[in-house]
Amino acid sequence: MVKIPFCEFCVKTRVLCHKCQSLLDSGRYQWLDVEVSDALLKVGHKINLSDVEYVKSYEVDDLVIVFMRNVKRLPRGAFMQLEKELASLLGRGVKVVEYGSVNEVIAQLVSPARLLTISTSWLPDGTTETVVKIPSRELRRLPIKPERLQAIISQISGASVKVELVRERELRA
Ligand SMILES: [Zn+2]
Repeated sequence: MVKIPFCEFCVKTRVLCHKCQSLLDSGRYQWLDVEVSDALLKVGHKINLSDVEYVKSYEVDDLVIVFMRNVKRLPRGAFMQLEKELASLLGRGVKVVEYGSVNEVIAQLVSPARLLTISTSWLPDGTTETVVKIPSRELRRLPIKPERLQAIISQISGASVKVELVRERELRA
């Protein structure tokens, strides 16, 4: 069975025990995580998710981004079915992402748009900023708007992120 942070019973009944409630009260998880955990338990009856571990979900506009561990090990067909089943249960678009390094996460969030580079630059105040460059003509293939993408990546990684759209001819210059 898929690993979730809450008790199966609490998720199914939506009546949380003290332990599950404290996970929400601490701010570590939101109600969305309870909803997604419930949907995952249901999908787990159709797809074998025994090695998969739930991490966290974020809601952006009409899209739910679900972070999990070991999800990329699923066969391609099962992975696509998982996204489809979750979307139908949650009534929103769903993007499933393998939880990993910031660069790995960014590449998956940007997909199917092509990514040019991910680099880290130092700011005058000594902090760093991750700069994600995407060709401007890939904009329409980007599943999440650049501003939202910046906000999500910052939220997940705690790093300051800037998404830049680059014109190909600027690259050659
Ligand atoms: Zn519980």
